[in-house]
Amino acid sequence: MAKTINEGQLEEIEVFGARVHNLRNIDLTFPREKLVVITGLSGSGKSSLAFDTIYAEGQRRYMETFSAYARNFLGNMERPDVDKITGLSPVISIEQKTTNTNPRSTVGTITEIYDFMRLLFARAGEAFSYVTGEKMIRLSDDQIIQLILEKFEKRKIILLAPVVKGRKGHYRELFETIQQMGFLKVRVDENIVDIKKGLQADRYKTHDIEIVVDRIAVTEDQKIRITESVRTALKHGKGSLMVLSEDDGLVRHFSQHLMCPTSGISYDEPAPNTFSFNSPYGACSKCNGLGTIAEIDLDSVIPDKKQTIKGGGIAPLGPQKDTWIFSQLQAIGRRYGFTLNTQIGEIPDEAINVILYGSDEVFQVNRDFNKGESGNYSLAFEGIVNFIAGQLTENSSPALKKWAQNFMQAVTCPVCKGTRLKKESLYFKIDQKNISQLANMDIMQLHDWFDGLEKD
Ligand SMILES: [Zn+2]
Repeated sequence: MAKTINEGQLEEIEVFGARVHNLRNIDLTFPREKLVVITGLSGSGKSSLAFDTIYAEGQRRYMETFSAYARNFLGNMERPDVDKITGLSPVISIEQKTTNTNPRSTVGTITEIYDFMRLLFARAGEAFSYVTGEKMIRLSDDQIIQLILEKFEKRKIILLAPVVKGRKGHYRELFETIQQMGFLKVRVDENIVDIKKGLQADRYKTHDIEIVVDRIAVTEDQKIRITESVRTALKHGKGSLMVLSEDDGLVRHFSQHLMCPTSGISYDEPAPNTFSFNSPYGACSKCNGLGTIAEIDLDSVIPDKKQTIKGGGIAPLGPQKDTWIFSQLQAIGRRYGFTLNTQIGEIPDEAINVILYGSDEVFQVNRDFNKGESGNYSLAFEGIVNFIAGQLTENSSPALKKWAQNFMQAVTCPVCKGTRLKKESLYFKIDQKNISQLANMDIMQLHDWFDGLEKD
């Protein structure tokens, strides 16, 4: 498995007297740096040899390199029941696991290769603007000062230094530290507040926190103060600052990090979780990183167009019952010229559209109630599709959610096109490929691609 082998090192791994689980005191020799396959009947001890003997011993030896103190925390690893193993180098194991048969899974995503690719993209990916396609640039502080003077001329601005972005915590100590540095206000989740003793944020929520560095009118004679404040903001914002314009309340970002020179959009510094569809920092916000969204499946809502509404042709409703919704459908029928006995295929498209997606038009609904009262009610109809979709919200009961699922189907997310990542993440490229394109390669293509990269 190990990629490098020092000269003079053994070329084989030898195992003597392996007795873990049902292994019967076996000896074996196999080559290093080769793909070795262990096959055999179920229960013959393949995993006992690979995971519980060879991997376990490699891992144990690795642990032994830590100090006794550190090993206290790691826990002791038992020596596997084996006499001796030679030629072993540090081991990694990719566990066997039953993967779900997602057609989009590739070798890259099922194995942990993807995690290494995320790291690679965070370190070596080049960012391109999703607006213009240009390579993103980093601005110097002088350029940032110049841009602020131009873009906000004669306007009142607040200079903010971002210090916390989307992280949980109460930040009591942070607020104290900011106060000790001489600042009076912070902006917490878009609200500017005075720093008072004991100020804290909700520790269980994620927050965005900026230091309010200065509030200033942008004019040429304030250039020195602006320059100083920009430098201060960049220092505390670790190279980034935000300008909040008081007229329109809009925030612009300026950065010594990545920014599109033409459109001005900026990306956060890439981190491995920028490329993770399991992280809010990497996931497509439309599908939450699933790659698919649930959509109403019209064929399961109306499975048979020869059926009537009365006979249960609208599957989510079933056959006619004495319920409000059927009274509404009758009212729609009066308006569009059909009855509940009309075959669905014969109902005009316009009416089907109202049944499915609702209408703001007000229908007169006649309804007899048990008490013998009857009434005329006018109300708009929300539509079957919207009703089903409404059952998928958080406060809906599990039973209703499950019911609604029957009429949903997963379709490729229209925003990320199934890549599961947010747009920015797909505009980081290495050798013209984004991480999703790499993840969709098969293992040989990926290997060739990695081999073709310049090594520097
Ligand atoms: Zn998506």
